[in-house]
Amino acid sequence: MIKFENVSKVYESGFQAVKSLNFEIHEGELLVLIGPSGSGKSTTMKMINRINPHTTGRITINGKDITSYNVAELRRNIGYVIQQIGLFPHYTIEKNIAIVPQLKGWAEKDISSRVKELLELVGLDPEIHATRYPKELSGGQQQRVGIARALASNPDIILMDEPFSALDPLTREQLQAELITLHKKLKKTIVFVTHDIDEALKMGDRIAIMKDGDILQLDTPEKLLHEP
Ligand code: ADP
Ligand code: ADP
Repeated sequence: MIKFENVSKVYESGFQAVKSLNFEIHEGELLVLIGPSGSGKSTTMKMINRINPHTTGRITINGKDITSYNVAELRRNIGYVIQQIGLFPHYTIEKNIAIVPQLKGWAEKDISSRVKELLELVGLDPEIHATRYPKELSGGQQQRVGIARALASNPDIILMDEPFSALDPLTREQLQAELITLHKKLKKTIVFVTHDIDEALKMGDRIAIMKDGDILQLDTPEKLLHEP
């Protein structure tokens, strides 16, 4: 469980991007952060892996203050998927996925079986895709690789910042459905940022609606739709 207590973020510019947030992300849920551009969604998400350290308040994961972790150790347990994928262009798909396991010092044969397993998990064919380079894959396939890479070291938490926004509508729908299936199977805690209400309603176990650095409402899609 991830808990925010009176958490705010003031950037170096002096701009307060996030006000005093108090909320919890349950273990194993897919929580969507939705809101207009500039409402503080990315800032909120990036405080969890300390890409964007919070200014005041406390964030805990399973009761442990995130500031008490070594940053590398914290991030090893938190997969991160962004819109611009960020695959290394001069690495093969296999090598891109293997980065974290290699850093962790796994044996080569364990790495290659893990890569194979992950490619299958995200709907790619190891025989075909493992040895290709990112530019030889479609946008949707590259985004699948991004998800596989985020899962490589088996993190408990996955942060996804508008992961499907750059994709064409059909591919996007397909990946949404696949992520829902994957989430049911792996039972990871996922925090998913989007500004698309349909995507939020489809994907979220719960949805946090953000505006001007604050969470206006946090509830299940059913409650958000059917309660005044
Ligand atoms: P969202 O993800 O909802 O679009 P962000 O969290 O990216 O919103 O940004 C929230 C607000 O903080 C915006 O007004 C944005 O301009 C501002 N902001 C984001 N990053 C920085 C930064 N590094 N320095 C100053 N202001 C920033
Ligand atoms: P956790 O301890 O949170 O499960 P690990 O990164 O230790 O995360 O493990 C991730 C997955 O990879 C697990 O399924 C584990 O069995 C496997 N694994 C971990 N370390 C190695 C290793 N050195 N070689 C092969 N597989 C490993």
